[in-house]
Amino acid sequence: MISHILGLKCLICGKSYSSDEIEYICPDHGDEGLLEVVYDYDVVADGFKREELTRCPDFSIWRYKPLLPVSPETPVPPLHIGYTPLYSNPRLARQFDLDAVWIKDDGRLPTASFKDRASAVAVMKAHEKNASVITTASTGNAAAALSGICAAVGKPNVIFVPETAPKAKIAQLLVYGSTVMLVRGTYDDAFELCLAASRKYGWYNRNTGYNPYMSEGKKTAAYEICEQLCWQAPDRVFVSVGDGCIIGGLHKGFKDLLSLGWIDRMPRLMGVQAEGSAYLYDAWQNDEDVTQKAAIAPDTLADSISAGLPRDRIKAMAAVKETEGAFVRVSDIEILTAITDLARSSGVFAEPAGAAAFSGLRKAFEKGQLQTGETTVVISTGSGLKDIDNAMAAVHRDGATAHHLEPSLSALDKVISATCKL
Ligand SMILES: *Cc1c(COP(=O)(O)O)cnc(C)c1O
Ligand SMILES: [Zn+2]
Repeated sequence: MISHILGLKCLICGKSYSSDEIEYICPDHGDEGLLEVVYDYDVVADGFKREELTRCPDFSIWRYKPLLPVSPETPVPPLHIGYTPLYSNPRLARQFDLDAVWIKDDGRLPTASFKDRASAVAVMKAHEKNASVITTASTGNAAAALSGICAAVGKPNVIFVPETAPKAKIAQLLVYGSTVMLVRGTYDDAFELCLAASRKYGWYNRNTGYNPYMSEGKKTAAYEICEQLCWQAPDRVFVSVGDGCIIGGLHKGFKDLLSLGWIDRMPRLMGVQAEGSAYLYDAWQNDEDVTQKAAIAPDTLADSISAGLPRDRIKAMAAVKETEGAFVRVSDIEILTAITDLARSSGVFAEPAGAAAFSGLRKAFEKGQLQTGETTVVISTGSGLKDIDNAMAAVHRDGATAHHLEPSLSALDKVISATCKL
């Protein structure tokens, strides 16, 4: 028992369980019975004050440990996770007629994506449950995050990713020493195989949209954004959406802060999807029930948000609807353009799924969905170094090339007089 947690509540039937009784899902709905972690905010508030954070020297997600689903005694992994920079960008604010645009760079996390926030919690839960092996299915980043954090604590792990995952992500897994299963199939296939394997071998399962603690790790970004903005919640947050765990986690994080009275309003959550993987956008647009809607066949170059059946679709839909935000849909070409646009206007180099969030801001601006004077946060969820092939595709589209030349000033002179915009 963890004293600040009341239990786990089923998102479908509302039934509550104690966190000792149930590990992952509500047994009444197969693998779909996602649970939400319910906190006792009175207990949290008793021992944890917003003002005390100003004296907290720990600039990582663990500064919020009293709001996380782990026991105070559980050791935290030694990698530095969280408190990523939030960059103010007045140039972009002017461009979009906003009061402020902030870019949160989660590509700066130890394995270079937002997923470290969740994998850190998974490794702690596995420790609490005395599990000897941890497993996950992933499009790549959740795997790399679990792999890296397991390496830091010396925990064996088995990873299932589609064979087509970007090379850099597979390299991370092998470098960190994971047992790597490259599945001939989609992320959804890898997900099912991982579930079956964890049942058969008794491995602790980190799968997104199955393990209820993953959105708890991800909610820490909402805490950081509010603390970095001196507890003024922004008007809107743009984030890209695949399974929907990140946006669901952000929603939970902002709701926690509202319940504690640390912020006085909710930001509108803007979920950005790739055109070829727009399950949630479509469901939102057509007012479809996500517990009934069938899987789609995803097709987008933004591998991290390619999901045929978003595993956290209930939480994701609630995040957008309850905050009166929106889903936004962007094409692969718009995503590639956003890679160079974001990098050149902010210095933040994002992988396609990270740049998609920025592309969503532009799309929302063009469609007149923003209001003048708003403050907006765009989360870049993964580093551009994760996917060099698509980064190069982005610069080729844009016509940028490097100059090849002999190492002499006269050769340089020629290049400069022929081409130069300096
Ligand atoms: C996982 C991921 C996302 C999407 O998160 P979901 O929880 O699947 O919606 C976005 N960007 C990057 C870089 C990711 O790794
Ligand atoms: Zn249920």
